[in-house]
Amino acid sequence: MNPLKSISLTLLVILGCYVLAQSGDTGDSISLANKNILVVWGGWDGHQPDVFAKKISEWASSKGAHVTVSDSLEVYTNSELMKKQDLIIQYWTMGTITAEQSKGLIETIKSGTGLVGCHGGIGDSFRNNTDYQYMVGGQWVTHPGGKIDYTVQISNTGDPVTEGLQDFEIKNTEQYYMHVDPNVRVLAMTTFNADHDNWINGNSMPVVWKRYHDKGPVFYISIGHNPEDFDHPAVWTMLTRGIDWASNSQIENK
Ligand SMILES: [Zn+2]
Repeated sequence: MNPLKSISLTLLVILGCYVLAQSGDTGDSISLANKNILVVWGGWDGHQPDVFAKKISEWASSKGAHVTVSDSLEVYTNSELMKKQDLIIQYWTMGTITAEQSKGLIETIKSGTGLVGCHGGIGDSFRNNTDYQYMVGGQWVTHPGGKIDYTVQISNTGDPVTEGLQDFEIKNTEQYYMHVDPNVRVLAMTTFNADHDNWINGNSMPVVWKRYHDKGPVFYISIGHNPEDFDHPAVWTMLTRGIDWASNSQIENK
């Protein structure tokens, strides 16, 4: 091989490795074939829950899932539909849930259906419902400074959700300060500085966690104020891997 060709080939291989390393796992290898997934959206519209619901529904459908989308919490009282679901993905900030709707959701999760959500979509819903908060494993209380830049530290690289990922910075979005249940398996953290509330300087806070609520796997990521937050490859990777985990675990558990 002439030297020029050899150098070109070497450069091509290096470029290929670089592209692979940068792209990571973008959820392309996940299959949701024959999974029933219910996507529920609503609540405070500043979070554009319709945009999130559309993006995640289209992705899940492209992975083979049978996706049902609802903009009403009344769907949680439809026991025939609920018992068929492998996974529920909710984006519903604040709002109120009736006792019957709440019972429908919580009993479904306790029986083994997965629950996935981000940001206020499950981490700040139905503030007066502590049974619901007990299921999620945490509740938003504030986001010092509003939209800021901050670092996410991957704290558990041994988990399939965070495997191969590295610490990263996310820009112009909310750093959630939450009250968190000790019964969560933390996968990623963030640390607050003194810029906004100096008394929380140095405090670390979970950003991504897994837990079980009885038989139901629950996956949460506190990023997601802006729909664009999910354009960050590491954020999208964790969300989609979390969906994969939570939609499978009920089978592993049975
Ligand atoms: Zn927000």
